[in-house]
Amino acid sequence: MKPTNPVYTGIDTTVFETMSRLAMAHDAVNLGQGFPDVDGPDDIRKVAATALMDGPNQYPPMLGLPELREAVAASNKRFYGLDIDPHSEVLVTSGATEALADCIFALVAPGDEVVLIEPLYDCYLPLVKQAGGIPVRVRVTPPDWTLDADALRNAFSDKTKVLLLNNPMNPTAKVFSEAELRLIADLCRRHDAYAVCDEVYEHLVFDGHSHRPLMTFEGMRERTVRIGSAGKTFSLTGWKVGYVTGPALMLDPIAKAHQWLTFTTAPNLQRAVAYGLAKDDSYFTGLTQDLMAKRDRMAKGLAELGFSVLPSAATYFLTCGIEGLDLGSSDVDACQTLVREAGVAAVPVSAFYGDDAPTGYIRFCFCKKEAVIDEALARLASFLSAGHANPHSLVQRKLAE
Ligand code: PMP
Ligand code: GLN
Repeated sequence: MKPTNPVYTGIDTTVFETMSRLAMAHDAVNLGQGFPDVDGPDDIRKVAATALMDGPNQYPPMLGLPELREAVAASNKRFYGLDIDPHSEVLVTSGATEALADCIFALVAPGDEVVLIEPLYDCYLPLVKQAGGIPVRVRVTPPDWTLDADALRNAFSDKTKVLLLNNPMNPTAKVFSEAELRLIADLCRRHDAYAVCDEVYEHLVFDGHSHRPLMTFEGMRERTVRIGSAGKTFSLTGWKVGYVTGPALMLDPIAKAHQWLTFTTAPNLQRAVAYGLAKDDSYFTGLTQDLMAKRDRMAKGLAELGFSVLPSAATYFLTCGIEGLDLGSSDVDACQTLVREAGVAAVPVSAFYGDDAPTGYIRFCFCKKEAVIDEALARLASFLSAGHANPHSLVQRKLAE
């Protein structure tokens, strides 16, 4: 038989799926894959349910329901002061993942260089490779995730077609500083590169700060697309509704890529997301306040157990150093040990890097109920205090008593 496409053949299943399946197999508390354990607002789900029953349930327009495109444009104005034409500058997709594929396939031709900042969200590299692009990676590393300005400058060349930026960033929970964004914008302009900004965590920014899209920097409006996800903004990750906002000249080929990937997205979900985006400010501040309380609860507990908890300025995630905890020789080992023996699933940070990855850090997802966070901490405490001799089954038995 002829070989199938090497971009997809023989590669590992994504770490999120792997850890979620392991968590199920070991009856572990799943703090690996990033998803909330309560569903998003009732009113949004009711709009979706009503729209499902009332219909129509036929193909919506390829660019997305007009009401959702208008809501996306309006929220760009409301949160970032951006004037977006809903008819030519917004595209609705089946999740941010599809949006990323549309953008990369539409902008990158074989041989084009794509600048990426490691750690990388799982789909970035395969998508760039599938497009025939040449990935040029710059790396930020724990514990401070600082972007090296010279390394970034060196990554850009006249062959750079696209810079792909994830801000706020998974798994680092980093929000890029104004100075870093200014440098990135400057390099994009100087090298005539497009920017594709994965901003799915735009509304999950903590401690009174707010997100500033790269698109708002001087000269970037015409060369940047930004990607949002209703999954993150409304705690409905299974819905897979995303949106791309950008100048018509970029959006046109992106929409053509979309027309042959999914063409469209479930109409009832689009209607409900349009309703959600118009929610008043208290929804958005309530979301971050709730997440901050969970973040702080988990961070405190993990620090007390001896994890080196790094700051989390945004997202669903806490990254922790595991040095001194005797959890194995690497982050991968540590996650295997924790899921099998402590009954808690996390994700190894090395999974987000290529070769020579840092191997001393693991990522915990904190968007869970308080009782679930406490249960995970209790399991970790029991496991660590017993010098690892106390299998998870014992903890469970104790809790059941
Ligand atoms: N980008 C990043 C950085 C993510 O963490 C995720 C996962 N939530 C996605 C994209 C994918 O989002 P969606 O579920 O909307 O496809
Ligand atoms: N974005 C989620 C995470 O980082 C996972 C999404 C997925 O599994 N595709 O954990």
